[in-house]
Amino acid sequence: MSATIFYREAPQKVSEQNRGAPVACDALIVGAGFAGSVIARELAERGGMRVALIEMRAHIGGNAYDCLDETGVLIHTYGPHIYHTASERVHEWLTRFTAWRAYEHKVLANVHGQLLPVPFSLSSIEAAFAPDRARQLTDLLKARYGLGARVPIIELRKAADPLLHELADYVYENIFLQYTMKQWGSTPEQIDPLITARVPVLVDYDDRYFQDPWQGMPCDGYTALFEKMLDHPNITVHLGYEAREIIAFEETGTSDAPFTAVRLAGQPFEGLVIYTGALDELAEQRFGLLPYRTLDLVYRHYDRNPVQAAATINFTVSEAYTRTTEFTWLTAQDIALSTVLEEYSLAYDGSPAQTAYYPIVGKENQERYERYRMLFTRLSGFHPLGRLAEYRYYNMDQIVLRALELADDLLR
Ligand code: FAD
Ligand code: UDP
Repeated sequence: MSATIFYREAPQKVSEQNRGAPVACDALIVGAGFAGSVIARELAERGGMRVALIEMRAHIGGNAYDCLDETGVLIHTYGPHIYHTASERVHEWLTRFTAWRAYEHKVLANVHGQLLPVPFSLSSIEAAFAPDRARQLTDLLKARYGLGARVPIIELRKAADPLLHELADYVYENIFLQYTMKQWGSTPEQIDPLITARVPVLVDYDDRYFQDPWQGMPCDGYTALFEKMLDHPNITVHLGYEAREIIAFEETGTSDAPFTAVRLAGQPFEGLVIYTGALDELAEQRFGLLPYRTLDLVYRHYDRNPVQAAATINFTVSEAYTRTTEFTWLTAQDIALSTVLEEYSLAYDGSPAQTAYYPIVGKENQERYERYRMLFTRLSGFHPLGRLAEYRYYNMDQIVLRALELADDLLR
């Protein structure tokens, strides 16, 4: 068995075609990434609903989609995705649809040609400093924060001890400053502190990028996982549909909350709509574009494998790209060739050729997002869900949990 997926062959108006037209359903879901696919499965299976899932791309999986590239290497088309979670519920739920290959992600920073483990840890200190100084620094860190502590760089920079302060400056300048400037176009102080806190200084010798209890890669890849998730008799998937072709809103409410009813392909619709795209797009950017960072993803092909010393190398003081990732480290694919991805971050301009990857979390942008969110509040069956629709910097597992919890609420 495989999921019921209708591929639209050429762009056409939904009213002009019948094959797989996603209208007769109890729940319409927009977007076949983790948010849309998890809730589709839950509503179909637990709720017994007829679910139609529409997706504007030609494939399922959202940004976690993977496929073989032209050289036969399994790549992640929208950037490297490594699964890790501290949620037992998420892990058990996903394990219904995939077996996992043990994998713990390792990242090295290239600092003027020297490779240092990231997150910056006691091992990094030993690699970066002469033995006496390294011992002094590791002892100080352990005494001040305790073995096993995770100290955000912004916190470490507040340390009063002059030696710790010196260490903080070293880490700030060699690991965080330029990488953050490339990734966000801003300094670490100018962005939400939770972003750099994702990669804290580790008072530990642990050289793994993530410390979650469950980590791994889906044995047959992410796309196969999504195929299984969406393989349910109550789910149909309709690829090649942009939401605005199908969904329209009656606007008879107040100016801040104008939408009062949903129409699907011109007909009134009383069912659920779970929307996982960007809310500003759906509202035709009436308050302006919600800011995002996008990525230029450049794939380089090699006739040897491996090419680099770790799965990911962060270029923290040089190069225009932020990081390079070699996929065979992630996938353990047995192949003599290799593909390495370079990520170049830039401001998203809203053009169709670009993908909105990272919401730029911050007070002003959150306020603009709330104005968009407000537009839809009178629609009791309309639920924004996911990294785009909620304008939140979620990892995959956080989205899975959000989707499961929304399903709990809706099916209560
Ligand atoms: P998406 O995956 O973006 O899915 C949304 C889907 O909706 C897309 O398929 C889109 O085409 C579709 N859509 C949008 N608008 C419309 C519309 N108007 N009409 C029809 N369809 C529409 N997380 C981790 O846990 N580990 C990682 O290692 C990791 N690495 C990442 C690396 C990069 C470069 C990026 C950008 C993200 C990474 N993430 C990682 C985060 C992860 O990608 C997200 O948490 C996850 O993809 C969010 O799922 P989602 O369903 O909310 O969004
Ligand atoms: N960061 C950094 N240097 C690094 C790694 C991370 O400055 O070597 C900062 C940077 O601001 C980045 C943030 O920490 O955006 C979060 O990093 P993470 O690896 O979690 O980003 P993602 O994988 O989500 O792109």
